[in-house]
Amino acid sequence: MRIYNTLTRRKEEFKPIEEGKVRMYVCGPTVYNLIHIGNARPMIFFDTVRRYFEYKDYEVNYVSNFTDVDDKIIKAANAEGVESSVISERYIAECRKDMEGMGIKPATRNPKATEEIDGMIRMIQTLIDKGFAYEVNGTVYYRVRKFVGYGKLSGKNLDDLRSGNRTLLVTGEEEKDDPMDFVLWKPKKEGEPFWPSPWGDGRPGWHIECSVMSQKYLGETIDIHGGGEDLVFPHHENEIAQSEAASGHPFAHYWMHNAFLNIDNRKMSKSLGNFFTVRDISEKYDLQVLRFFMLSAHYRSPLNFSDELMAAAKSGLERIVNCAGLVREKAAGAESAASEELAAELKGYREKFEAAMDDDFNTADAIAALFELVKYANTRVAGGCTEGEAAAMSELLETLCDVLGVNTSVKKDDLDSEVEALIEERQAARREKNWAKADEIRDRLTAMGIVLEDTREGVKWKRA
Ligand code: AMP
Ligand code: ZN
Repeated sequence: MRIYNTLTRRKEEFKPIEEGKVRMYVCGPTVYNLIHIGNARPMIFFDTVRRYFEYKDYEVNYVSNFTDVDDKIIKAANAEGVESSVISERYIAECRKDMEGMGIKPATRNPKATEEIDGMIRMIQTLIDKGFAYEVNGTVYYRVRKFVGYGKLSGKNLDDLRSGNRTLLVTGEEEKDDPMDFVLWKPKKEGEPFWPSPWGDGRPGWHIECSVMSQKYLGETIDIHGGGEDLVFPHHENEIAQSEAASGHPFAHYWMHNAFLNIDNRKMSKSLGNFFTVRDISEKYDLQVLRFFMLSAHYRSPLNFSDELMAAAKSGLERIVNCAGLVREKAAGAESAASEELAAELKGYREKFEAAMDDDFNTADAIAALFELVKYANTRVAGGCTEGEAAAMSELLETLCDVLGVNTSVKKDDLDSEVEALIEERQAARREKNWAKADEIRDRLTAMGIVLEDTREGVKWKRA
């Protein structure tokens, strides 16, 4: 299995620290709002990485945090006049709902930053004791020039970074030894959550959280550390500096980063008005469609989100789900019994799928192999295969779908939440006696091949 390692900038053969085991850490979201579809990309992709390792019989220890102390959370809490924890707990619960909808397996552990403060204080103290950190007026800074490998992940050079960051010196951080030094602990401010520490009441910086949670739950050296590409610098560069200085050992062997999700070829942002939460999408599509869409491109390629591409993902997913239903029905619970010829054919599809996934998790090519299997299975069923043969095809299809986290028993109706949403919109128009709008929606549904029937129990629909 080959993985592109951001640290070495090439694909490398994967060698686990411990035979048959994978320890991986993926930076999780800051919980101040509903997660957006950009956040969903690393969640879906790294869940697929985990599933593929499990398919290959690795035992995966998968840790992903929730950042539940942060300026944005504090701002949201102050705006609502509640404690920070009210905001973070609310959005952790909402995030878990979205993750379930997207078919993301629960992590082995989802530590929360606020529950790991003791460990952070201990690591900061170790860094101070070793000369990698210093305290000024209640703030503790990391001394970047002391860490020889600083910049190795992002390929940045400290002198260039310094000249680009002169402005930092005039923004109230002149107490730092070096403009590149970053915060490990900051003193409390009015209206902010705080914890006692040897340097006074305050709260941790963002980067130290991940170093501590990763070390606590996975050990000093881990196999894989992942996240979106925006985290390479400074977040992951700083995590390396902290973890390796504290432990004296390499932090992670493989650094994996997903490219960004854009919308209509532009960066997603609230100000551009092209910002969607996962919840927004769930109103129009089953979240399985979003998952399938995310995996339709290689994770290191930027991915563009649009209605057309989502519609294509939806019909692709339907083809797979329909075929899975067809072979399952045809198998009628029979034991798998493939002829030599069929077994060889199925082995070919499995190998294609594995070759794609082994090549730095090329999910786009893996899906292409899956479509070939679907086409083959449909033809075999149409040509009149035996129950045992259908069972063999069904088994392979289910196994490969499971690696991608695609749920083949998703009901067709669930995929049709778009139809349900339009019907609901039509009902609302009727309640408002907006007959023109109601008729217009009915026409749209007719054009989609949907037939409506107004009954006493409400509106029923079927495909024409
Ligand atoms: P945040 O809550 O901003 O720390 O982000 C959580 C995760 O989502 C990180 O791994 C980010 O790199 C990732 N992420 C944020 N926006 C996008 C995007 N538009 N496309 C892909 N990944 C993203
Ligand atoms: Zn992190």
